[in-house]
Amino acid sequence: MKGVGASPGITIGRALPVIKRPNKVAYKRLEDPKEVEREASRFHQAVQDTERSLIQARDELSQDEGDYSYIIEAHLLILKDKMIFDHTKELIRQQSVNAEWALSQAMSEAEETFRKIKNSYIRSRFADVEYVVDTLMRNLAGDQDNALADIKEKVILVAHDLSPAETTQMDLDWVLGFVTDMGGPTSHTAILAQAKGIPAVVGTEKITLEVESGDFLIVDGLEGLVVVNPDEETLHDYRDRQEAYQHYTQEVLAQAHLPADTLDGHSVAVGANMEMAEEVGSILSYGAESIGLYRTEFLYVTRRDFPGEEELLENFKTVVTRMEGRPVTIRTLDLGGDKFASHMEGSLTAENNPALGLRAIRFCLKEKDLFKAQLRAILRASALGRVRIMFPLISGVGELLEAKEVLEEVEAELEQKGQEYDKNLEVGIMVEVPSAVTVADMLAKHVDYFSIGTNDLIQYSLAIDRINEHVAHLYQPLHPAVLRMIQQVVESGHAVGIPVAMCGEMAGDQRVVPLLLGLGLDYLSVNALAVPRVKQVVRLTSKETWRQLAKEALSFPTAAQVREFINGKLAKHIPELFSELG
Ligand code: PEP
Ligand code: MG
Repeated sequence: MKGVGASPGITIGRALPVIKRPNKVAYKRLEDPKEVEREASRFHQAVQDTERSLIQARDELSQDEGDYSYIIEAHLLILKDKMIFDHTKELIRQQSVNAEWALSQAMSEAEETFRKIKNSYIRSRFADVEYVVDTLMRNLAGDQDNALADIKEKVILVAHDLSPAETTQMDLDWVLGFVTDMGGPTSHTAILAQAKGIPAVVGTEKITLEVESGDFLIVDGLEGLVVVNPDEETLHDYRDRQEAYQHYTQEVLAQAHLPADTLDGHSVAVGANMEMAEEVGSILSYGAESIGLYRTEFLYVTRRDFPGEEELLENFKTVVTRMEGRPVTIRTLDLGGDKFASHMEGSLTAENNPALGLRAIRFCLKEKDLFKAQLRAILRASALGRVRIMFPLISGVGELLEAKEVLEEVEAELEQKGQEYDKNLEVGIMVEVPSAVTVADMLAKHVDYFSIGTNDLIQYSLAIDRINEHVAHLYQPLHPAVLRMIQQVVESGHAVGIPVAMCGEMAGDQRVVPLLLGLGLDYLSVNALAVPRVKQVVRLTSKETWRQLAKEALSFPTAAQVREFINGKLAKHIPELFSELG
């Protein structure tokens, strides 16, 4: 069965399906107003009970599981979010209905909101809402038993969906792998599985229908495949692959914390991209030296109102303190495009071309109060560690100066209030609009660093909608135009002595990393899982050799020819790595 590989590795063992109670919710109309109030307080009680059990689960985490406490914190926030908590109470009173019915209605509305979110990472977070609602339902029914706590043999868990809070209630040493119907590669189950090094395949859609207790399974988290009751030959083949993979990861991981210095002695800072505070633990364990991109949108898109300064500050503080002095690049809000907040609908989503619309910095410069609240929170968090600010989607100098002016206003306000912040905080921009590339020399004079966002730069320069599957084959990172733009940005930055980073997905492609170093990039920021491998490639690369090769690569007229050229050079210069990758 095909799913999505959510945590790499291969595991072989017996299946244990986790059965959850079907959510058939009874409808009951309440005639007496007193009954309605009793129902509202019954709901309130269930929320309190759920809160208590979540706090208990969090407090019982052992030290090395402490990273997951952020996931439970997220569940505690959802529990008290207006979308679920206030809205269920409203529905009980407005419609005079039982709590279960009102709660299921509130959840359906939340689901509708999430379904419209185009960003798959954020959409996948609906699983957390489902988990919280499921627990509330159990508490409403006065039922708190939990079969997961009793697992005492090595198994592969097969479930419709698995919440990290559920998984923290069991001893993960007994778990060989996870397979779920639901979920995407960035779901919390995936994050947790990765952090624990447990292979996982999610999004199979129907594994729970196909697998029975005791079935023999192969879970291939690399390819996103599950084999049910394999024959001897398949089993043999997978045992070989399992061994080869274990050998390979042991080598890469053992070196994850080594610095990424090239063969000819250049240090390359390799950082991680992240979306949620709870990822910090795994980011560090994969050897990231910094956070090169903290996408702050998730703090905004899952709710009915915008978070205030204090709430944002708490979040940033958590990240900054846990990074213990390592740089944290916080990108200011990049809403719009494919990332919408539910309550913004009607204003922004009505645009014909949202990617070309009121997005990111443009939206922030229009909604200045919102922008300032975020900047205040970022600045205040900067007093606790090494924070960098990054403005997204800057298209020219005028826009950059306008954003910097708002930042200066906020600094002056903090100064006046006597609130501390890092006065040397670095301010940079994402270079992801072609016009910014063209005037990169002018922009460079006003910033401390550049970070190239290839996801958008490719979209805008090649006119390829990054979320449209019909043109996905035309989305070419190695298009000569893209390579020339990268070269131009690097040269413009270096001409005035500022570093140039790349934080788009292109930077995480091991086969492209040597070329990027040859083009002169100073930092790479990639998804956490890719960090050890990117560092390893850096260590096997000679910057000088690839500087020469990059020049040659730039002479080819098509992406296919560039690809062929670099593959040939990789085979010659870094054969040990690429033979292992196959
Ligand atoms: C990019 O555009 O390359 C980028 C890193 O930002 P995002 O994917 O969040 O738009
Ligand atoms: Mg972008």
